[in-house]
Amino acid sequence: MTPVLPAVGRLERGVPLAPFTTFGLGGPVALWCGDVTTDELPGVARAILDETGSPPLLLGDGSNLLVADGPISRGVIRLGGHGFTLGPSWGEVVDVAVDAGTSWDGFVSDAVNAGLQGVECLSGIPGRVGAAPIQNIGAYGQEVSDTVVAVEGLDLLTGAVIALTAADCAFGYRTSRFKTGDSTFAVTRVHFRLRTQSSPTVAYRDVAEALLAVADPTLQVVRECVLAIRRRKSMVIDATDPNRRSAGSFFTNPVVTSGHADALAAENGGELPRYQSTGGVKLSAAWLIENAGVARGFELGGARVSTRHTLALTAASASCRTSDIVRLAAHVRRAVRRRFGVTLEPEPVFVGFDRSATQVLDEAEESLPND
Ligand SMILES: Cc1cc2nc3c(=O)[nH]c(=O)nc-3n(C[C@H](O)[C@H](O)[C@H](O)COP(=O)(O)OP(=O)(O)OC[C@H]3O[C@@H](n4cnc5c(N)ncnc54)[C@H](O)[C@@H]3O)c2cc1C
Repeated sequence: MTPVLPAVGRLERGVPLAPFTTFGLGGPVALWCGDVTTDELPGVARAILDETGSPPLLLGDGSNLLVADGPISRGVIRLGGHGFTLGPSWGEVVDVAVDAGTSWDGFVSDAVNAGLQGVECLSGIPGRVGAAPIQNIGAYGQEVSDTVVAVEGLDLLTGAVIALTAADCAFGYRTSRFKTGDSTFAVTRVHFRLRTQSSPTVAYRDVAEALLAVADPTLQVVRECVLAIRRRKSMVIDATDPNRRSAGSFFTNPVVTSGHADALAAENGGELPRYQSTGGVKLSAAWLIENAGVARGFELGGARVSTRHTLALTAASASCRTSDIVRLAAHVRRAVRRRFGVTLEPEPVFVGFDRSATQVLDEAEESLPND
């Protein structure tokens, strides 16, 4: 029998998700339980499964979610608990185990301050450590899969405690086994292997250019540089920024065949930013959007393309609803497909829709005026 734990008594009904997402959007959920400990998790997950018929959604800081406007039939759990434990260290590496509820950027800051290399370019990414492996967060020349060695968690259907190796996680570009399909895995702890004696990663062009005049930049200098670049693009959480209500990049960079990339480059006078990537050639979604005629600041309903980054869609007005973001996303996606024959894929996880994200956008596209 599943023990009745105090957290089960804290289950609430009809809590709106809007205050828990960076878009500030999202309707009420069937059941909600916050600040759940790892020990309480199996009992709360079982109670939600029994009542709603489906495993709960694990919520972090809601910075990669698009939550539907209407009532949502799922239960949602937010884990409490934060902190990290230094594990064994040998040679020039050290293992660090970090609780899922820990702030991602808080962890990065602590690692940089401790002289540990491997996550400095991921400075400023919103959210919690538990969500970092879900889409294999990445920025400025690093991905979290470069340093994750294991992920601990709970299977929400069976209650089994599971430890997965990095290989088990099937990390890819902005994806993992947890992001594809309906994952029932709750991440409770992530294990990283960081380096104690290494120079920071200065691989990304913007970072390298900004640090041209700095000989041997430290981890802290690279962190500050990344944060400054991100601030200029409204890619950090800042309560005073008019572009703040977003989920960061709304679309991933599309990967196409080299033949397709060559053809697009030829059609565009050779002007097509592209990078060799696993499985093909990666194009810049931001470049495609701008060159499909969608400018920064473009508004549709209550939604607006960020005034500082074409890839971010924002809730621009107090009356903006999730349906406005969906319409704007459909508009942007259609413009790129019409101009370049490339279909953009959304990066955030869609919650509370009874169809896949692709179907939601396809349907919204059909209802757009044919301009
Ligand atoms: C301004 C801004 C900039 C951003 N920049 C970047 C960037 O540079 N690179 C990048 O990769 N992303 C970026 N993002 C997206 C986002 O910050 C990351 O995806 C982040 O990891 C999401 O963390 P979260 O805690 O907010 O997760 P949430 O948005 O709450 O959840 C995201 C997904 O993870 C799942 N999840 C959360 N916690 C757990 C858990 N413990 N166990 C199992 N599943 C869980 C959720 O169910 C959901 O499917 C940005 C977002 C914003 C708003």
